[in-house]
Amino acid sequence: MLNKLSDTIYYLSNQDDRERPTLGLVCGDQYSLIIDSGNSTQHAKDFLLEIEKLNVPPVKYMVITHAHWDHFLGMNEFDATVIVNSQTSEKIQEWQNYTFDDSSLQKYVNTNQMSAMCMKIIQADMPNRNSFKLNSPDVIFENTLTIDLGKKVCILERIKSTHSDDSTIVYIPDEKVVFLGDCAYGTTTNSLFHYKQSLLLPMIEDIQKYNAEMFLLGHESICDSEEMNIYWKELTTASQVVKCTSLENATKRFMAVNKRDPNDNELFFIKAFVNDHIIQSQ
Ligand SMILES: [Zn+2]
Repeated sequence: MLNKLSDTIYYLSNQDDRERPTLGLVCGDQYSLIIDSGNSTQHAKDFLLEIEKLNVPPVKYMVITHAHWDHFLGMNEFDATVIVNSQTSEKIQEWQNYTFDDSSLQKYVNTNQMSAMCMKIIQADMPNRNSFKLNSPDVIFENTLTIDLGKKVCILERIKSTHSDDSTIVYIPDEKVVFLGDCAYGTTTNSLFHYKQSLLLPMIEDIQKYNAEMFLLGHESICDSEEMNIYWKELTTASQVVKCTSLENATKRFMAVNKRDPNDNELFFIKAFVNDHIIQSQ
């Protein structure tokens, strides 16, 4: 079932055990726009079935928030104009050349072009895929793009992100809702989980310039302003004390500056920023 956020905004919750991210639906007077296409044809079909139950204008546009497979592999199921930023377009090109039969998938996993989890989901949720080819995006933008769905404006912006360098967010001004995709998360490089520290403050600034009150995240579904502010505060407090690859130094500095132990979230973030220094130093 879709969750109704307002008369014109809905979302399908993330489902972690199937690697399914949050999917969004924004409806204007004339057209609807969806945010991310699902991680497979089955995920996309499930979403479409739910959209059909609502009496909403036709889905004319699809925005892919970034080029991670779980956000775009369902795109062929929709008869919509696919919109991405130029960096996402470049990254998706590799996937357009892929073939999806079992032996090809295994080959991509062996060469680290695809995760084992991705292969598992494709095998479970993309039947009849031996001749499957991923479609190309239709509209490619650089920094921002505004779409009017009929008395419903959506602002797309490519922003700086601790998660990926091709993150697009979708802001709906008259509802004060923003779809963040995965932009506010960390990422894994060479088996190390890290947040790109140099991009943390620029990212928060990019997001906070919009006057959002509701935040949809790729793998959390929904947060209000208060929850997001706590998240930003914990991230920035952790980031401030990490200046090198030493976890011990960072933890000591945290206690000296804040006169208390870091909580579990802050400790997790401190480790992730330390990992970022380790990756930068490699
Ligand atoms: Zn992602």
